[in-house]
Amino acid sequence: MSPVQKKIPLQVDSLWTNVHLATMTETGPYGMVKDGALAIGGDKIAWIGKRIDLPGDLESRVDKVYDGQNGWITPGLVDCHTHLVYAGSRAREFELRLQGATYEEIARQGGGIRSTVSETRQADEESLLAQSAPRLQALMQEGVTTVEIKSGYGLDLETELRMLRVARHLGERFPVTIVPTYLGAHALPPEYEGQSDQYIDFVCNKVMPQVAAQKLAVCVDAFCESIGFTPEQTERVFETAKKLGLKVKLHAEQLSDLQGAELAARYGAVSAEHLEYVSEEGIKAMAASGTVAVLLPGAFYFLRETRVPPIDLLQRYRVPIALATDCNPGISPTTSLLLMLNMACTLFRMTPEEALAGVTRNGARALGLRQKIGTLEPGKDADFVVWDIADPAELAYRIGFNPLQQVVRHGELLTQ
Ligand SMILES: [Zn+2]
Repeated sequence: MSPVQKKIPLQVDSLWTNVHLATMTETGPYGMVKDGALAIGGDKIAWIGKRIDLPGDLESRVDKVYDGQNGWITPGLVDCHTHLVYAGSRAREFELRLQGATYEEIARQGGGIRSTVSETRQADEESLLAQSAPRLQALMQEGVTTVEIKSGYGLDLETELRMLRVARHLGERFPVTIVPTYLGAHALPPEYEGQSDQYIDFVCNKVMPQVAAQKLAVCVDAFCESIGFTPEQTERVFETAKKLGLKVKLHAEQLSDLQGAELAARYGAVSAEHLEYVSEEGIKAMAASGTVAVLLPGAFYFLRETRVPPIDLLQRYRVPIALATDCNPGISPTTSLLLMLNMACTLFRMTPEEALAGVTRNGARALGLRQKIGTLEPGKDADFVVWDIADPAELAYRIGFNPLQQVVRHGELLTQ
């Protein structure tokens, strides 16, 4: 007896046929099912498998049967690392840098992250929402159904809370799941110049309790780096987050090895991000704690980095690898997750299948949502994308091309 789900599901509202499925479960390449069928009951996947194995008279008694036109269905894409809520633009700075200005010169003119902080502080909630919405919509147009959004451009109490409220409003306004993350320890604000320990006090004692009390974030993140915060300061942020019942994640080992991966693992972090300089010890620790590696090829590309994250080692120790846009105005001004698939293949030598797993199954894991989303399985959220492609590898292969046909989120068809 094959493990085919023959039982007729109790509730089936709609059915997709004439379609192939990249379920992204770990059962062979892409968890592939040729000539498949997918049934939706309410907001969940009720049945999935080969069309020929559809139970009983399901196909004739379902109200709505959709024709997938011989395309492919994948899980809804997950962008598990973005900073897409911010005000202003850094295009001018990009131009100056290409004309030869140094980072110091740009910083002296008020550029860099401080310019984003200053513009974000000045933007009211409505303006921040209006400026951020097109970035979210661009992601959604490429099949993204779950997005993590970090704060970290306010750095003061009021603006950090405002950024997180905007993230929440985006999730109410658009059919997309938003996972908000408080990233107070992103950069040192000008008013705390030379007082980074005091700033961490402020983050832990003043802001984080408010964030938790108002349920504005699910995760807490920090930038543990020579130009960010020390491992000791990061540890204090994590201690507080744990006490408040928030999950932790970490920007680690982007520019140097401060053993941030080990630190993240020690606190049971859902993910550690960037990781160009992570050591074998760090990777072992991540494997033991189930911490996902989130790689950010857009930032690697934009900064013209040359040190590739140690993919082979991550794979040897079976650390799940996720990919994300890192959408931010400074070092990764992109809103294309499909482009990240291509970059992960060309720059990091990942395979198209590994890249797609990075924005589905492993992206979901990096947000602690693997029980709900990330693969196509009965009982999971009916979040999926129908693509006009002949082979799932096309999603990573083509550059600047969007073959999206339809998006279904929580069982509802969003595009026609
Ligand atoms: Zn980031």
